[in-house]
Amino acid sequence: MKRNPRLDIYLDKIKNNSNNIKALCLKHGIGVVGITKGCCAITEVGQAMIDGGINILGDSRIENLKGLKKSELKVETMLIRIPMLSEVDRVLDWADISLNSEISVIKSLSQEALKRKTVHKIIMMIDLGDLREGIMPDDALQMVGEIRRLPGVKLIGIGANFCCISGVMPTRKNLTKLVELTEEIENNFHINLEVISGGSTSVLKLVEDDIIPDRINQLRIGVGILLGQDDVRLRNLAGTYQDTFILTAEVIEVQEKLSLPQGEIGRDAFGEIPVFRDLGIRKRAILAIGKQDIYLNSLIPLKEGIKIVGASSDHLIVDITDFKEEVKVSDEVKFRLNYPALLSATTSKYVKKYFYKKKEKK
Ligand SMILES: *Cc1c(COP(=O)(O)O)cnc(C)c1O
Repeated sequence: MKRNPRLDIYLDKIKNNSNNIKALCLKHGIGVVGITKGCCAITEVGQAMIDGGINILGDSRIENLKGLKKSELKVETMLIRIPMLSEVDRVLDWADISLNSEISVIKSLSQEALKRKTVHKIIMMIDLGDLREGIMPDDALQMVGEIRRLPGVKLIGIGANFCCISGVMPTRKNLTKLVELTEEIENNFHINLEVISGGSTSVLKLVEDDIIPDRINQLRIGVGILLGQDDVRLRNLAGTYQDTFILTAEVIEVQEKLSLPQGEIGRDAFGEIPVFRDLGIRKRAILAIGKQDIYLNSLIPLKEGIKIVGASSDHLIVDITDFKEEVKVSDEVKFRLNYPALLSATTSKYVKKYFYKKKEKK
């Protein structure tokens, strides 16, 4: 019997999503890096991306890249968070490519690579306004000059990121700036940059609309593959599945209760003061899962008539008054997940993971 709470993972759907996004990008000369950080780089999911035609996997955590390498997946790995200076040796152990913006870190990568007689590939990140990682465009030439003096590292390209901290959207205009900067670097140093890594799922819209600048030749796609969604525009991507990960939790109590709490209201277990509306007597079910496992706001009940009321660390309360079916203790309630819920559910060791994949025909 399967244990609850559990996450059912549909690998064929993830493979399909990878395949279709890859095909879309390929038509525009763009390669896809499959980003696994949204699911803690579960090996089976990484393999599903590979089965869908992806040949570089990226993650923000070395631990996750290490897992992928140890499972002997046949891919290149890319560290997509700027490395910590203290983890440089592990970057060399587990990442073939890393995104960088700090010269001290790049110097250290170079020294470590020299020691090992290898060459580590780096992509220099440019800040195009989202104000997360990346150097300012005006500093790019000087930085490239410094990087080129370092043996042990090879600058394979430049990249940018959008919609992460400030929600700045990718546009033809700011991506054109990335291309222009590439050409400036190439002309200045008489080199050729292999990779222009234009961003994440949020850039796919520009590919679909055929307004992505020609030279952008790499995108790093996480949510688009994992959940078939473009979160920034709240839309589903054409040709993808959204029900790739389904969370199931088990009912441990069903009772009719007043919708207004009885007694004086203080702070809840997470330090917040909850607000309630008087809806009379409501039928409520408690599910054995909680904030320790799941980010509530991005859980979507699969069936209509089930509403999330709230949760503490280990209890999730749903209102089932308007639900047509009978609910009893031991029943299962299923949810689709948005990104934050996927991230928390895959991180929780209390949520068991089960994989589904059609048998290959021999
Ligand atoms: C998370 C991340 C991505 C992937 O973003 P999605 O929206 O999941 O496609 C790409 N690049 C970097 C640097 C990231 O941190």
